[in-house]
Order: sequence, then structure tokens, then C-alpha cells
Amino acid sequence: MVSVREILQSQANNKFNNLHCQVFNLGTQKIIKEVDQAAGEFIEKCPKFRHGRKEIDLHSGLACIMLFFDLEMLEMSKNLCVVKGVAMSALRDFKRPSSVAEAVAMVREGPGRGGFIAGGTTLGLARMLPYDFLVDITGVGLNKLRKVGDGIRIGAAATIQQLATSPLLHNSGLEFLIQAALSVATRQIRNMATVGGDLVSGYPVADLPAVFLVLDAQLSLTGSDRMELSLRDFFDSRVSGSLNGALVTEISFPVPPQDSRGFFVKFARTENDVALIDLACLASLEGRHFKWVRVALGSTVLRPSRLLALEDFLKGKPAEEQVLAQAAKLATKDLSILDNIRGSRPYRMEMIQVLLRRALLNCAQRGGGDK
Ligand SMILES: Cc1cc2nc3c(=O)[nH]c(=O)nc-3n(C[C@H](O)[C@H](O)[C@H](O)COP(=O)(O)OP(=O)(O)OC[C@H]3O[C@@H](n4cnc5c(N)ncnc54)[C@H](O)[C@@H]3O)c2cc1C
Repeated sequence: MVSVREILQSQANNKFNNLHCQVFNLGTQKIIKEVDQAAGEFIEKCPKFRHGRKEIDLHSGLACIMLFFDLEMLEMSKNLCVVKGVAMSALRDFKRPSSVAEAVAMVREGPGRGGFIAGGTTLGLARMLPYDFLVDITGVGLNKLRKVGDGIRIGAAATIQQLATSPLLHNSGLEFLIQAALSVATRQIRNMATVGGDLVSGYPVADLPAVFLVLDAQLSLTGSDRMELSLRDFFDSRVSGSLNGALVTEISFPVPPQDSRGFFVKFARTENDVALIDLACLASLEGRHFKWVRVALGSTVLRPSRLLALEDFLKGKPAEEQVLAQAAKLATKDLSILDNIRGSRPYRMEMIQVLLRRALLNCAQRGGGDK
């Protein structure tokens, strides 16, 4: 059997023609250790690996490695049986711009069809990419989180782990955003996956859209022009869908008022599985009555969306069991709920109602006060 080290060594001696492959290795600890050492050396030392990252946890036995390599290596890797490769056969080039303007120009000017790559965790799942080349946006200065006035601005290429650990979000009523970030996959994936990628990749079970929807987030885009687009409009217009070559540079939202309370829940079969339901809620109460409520669902409907009828219904109403039960029924009435191998429509509907009542009660119990 060819060893991982031999494969990488042979690659180092080869011409770098066709670029290929993201590797997610869920092998045994022995193999992972070998991949870890070999990949580490080559990512650092071999200039021919124009793009390579590794995130490995030897204890959990989970690894996430991304290397772009050529067809010959992909063929060889099949012999290993432990490396699962996904061919990106049309790719001819991988570019690393150093500014937003350069990145956007590269995609616009070609030659051929270019696409952005951030963490690569969703793109790497594709069997075929509709691109001739990829433009890596992780080195263009979009990975910071900052507070500007009363708002938070998150660079689109900030990783989800950065979001989960940012001191900006602590003690600011945004703990439910941290919780949503921590619910995404494993730490290995979170270290690579970006916030922008989770929001705009169209990954059907992305966990972050619901929570950013209740925060009323805006996307800053740079394409032929610069513009702002609300996340809600982005999802509502997603049928026609693409960003037309524009790059999302930042995600911003106002810090929620002090008297509001947020709640997020990811309902999944196991801790590391993708969601059956993502539900986020942000509410402000006066005494036991809702002043306003925002609720959003993800992963269980065709596209992430706010539950506007429910929000209107609850305004001014008391947080009482009977009202919440009525609200939960109303919320699911007109929803196009998914029905698939992870969960049937009736089961999901039941669970949405349960989680919704739980979310609203939780916000009510922590918010308001007896006025
Ligand atoms: C094993 C595994 C488990 C996962 N589990 C989860 C999970 O539990 N929860 C979850 O939410 N997700 C999960 N994902 C999906 C994925 O990790 C996230 O959706 C991730 O945030 C995608 O971001 P990325 O930076 O890797 O995007 P990429 O793969 O780099 O890009 C995806 C798409 O978005 C576009 N894009 C990315 N950034 C921008 C930008 N700034 N502007 C314009 N276009 C852009 C790219 O062009 C591409 O089309 C999982 C993925 C894997 C492989």
C-alpha cells in the first residue's frame, strides 16, 4: 500500500497542472496520525501546495484536511482506501489575492469562470465545480470582528470558531449567537468554515442563518458596485439566487437592546450531526407581555425564513401557555416543511411547535420583569 507520505512526496516532485480535491479523512487514529504529520510537513514546506490546511484532532479521531493536488495524486490516493477525495476536475488554477478589489477583479476578468473559495468546507463536498479557477478570499483582510457604534461587524471570512470565541460577543446579550456558532459541526470544521460561507453557500442545513435573521443582519457586498443587502432579502430572492460574482465582505447587525433576550436551539439526531431544525428567537417584554418578537427557522424549511405572521400575532400578547400554544400552531400552518430521511414532515412540525414554545417561554422567563 502506498503511504500518505509517499503520495505527498511524489506530488512534490510533480508539475502542478490540474488542481484537485478536498480530503475529509475519517480514518483510524493510526492513519490520521500519518496524514497529520505528512500533510503538516508538506503544507509548510512545499510551495507547490498553493492551498492546504489541516485541522486534526488525534483524540476524537476526526480529521479535516484540505489539499489541492493533481489528478495523478488523486488516482494514487484511491489505493489508500482511507482518503476520500472529491474531484474538482475542471479546475485549472487557484489564486490568492491580497485585497478585496483584487479578488473581485480576478473573478470578473477571468480567463474562464471563477468562483470564490473561503473555508472550502462546502465547496469541497461538490462532485463537480462549475468553475475554471478558484479565488481564495481568506487572505484579503476579511477575518476581523469589530464593534462599530452600536453595531457588530463581522468579516465574511472570519471562521465560525472565531465567532464562537470572540470576546465582543460575551456579556452583550449575544450568547445565543455564540451558542449557534458552537452548534456548527466539529471544532475542526469550525476552524476552517467561515461565517460568510455559512450564510451564502446555500448549504441546506446551515445553522447560522436563523440566528442572523433574528438579529436583522445586513450583508455588505462588493461587485461591480458596493451595496448593502438585508439577509432577509438575500434569502427571499434566493430562488433567482446568486450573488452575480459579488463578494460578501461583511455581515453587520445592531447589538440587540438591553431589555431583549435571545434564544437559539439546534435540534439534531446527535451532537455532531447536521440539524433537523434550527430555531432562533429574540424578544423584548414589558412585564409578561411581548413588546416585540423575532423568530426564524432554518434547516427544516426550503430556505431560512422569519416567521412574520407569528411575530405580528405575539406583539402585545402575554407569555402564557395558551397563547404560546396558539402561536406555535399558527407558525407552522403555512410553512413548507421538509420531509426527508432525517425527519418526516409531521415529526418536524410537532418538534417546531415544541421548540417554539420552549424558546418563547425561555425569553419570557429571563426578560421583562414585573412592571
Ligand atoms: C463534515 C461537514 C460537516 C458540516 N456540518 C455543518 C453543520 O453542522 N452546520 C453548518 O452550518 N454547516 C456545516 N457544514 C457546512 C459548512 O461547513 C458551512 O456551511 C461553512 O460555513 C461554509 O463556509 P466555507 O467558508 O467553508 O465556504 P466555502 O466552501 O469556501 O464556500 C461555499 C460557497 O459559498 C461561496 N462563498 C463563501 N464565502 C463567500 C463570500 N464571502 N462571498 C461570496 N461567496 C462566498 C463560495 O463561492 C462557494 O460557492 C459542514 C460541512 C462539512 C464538510
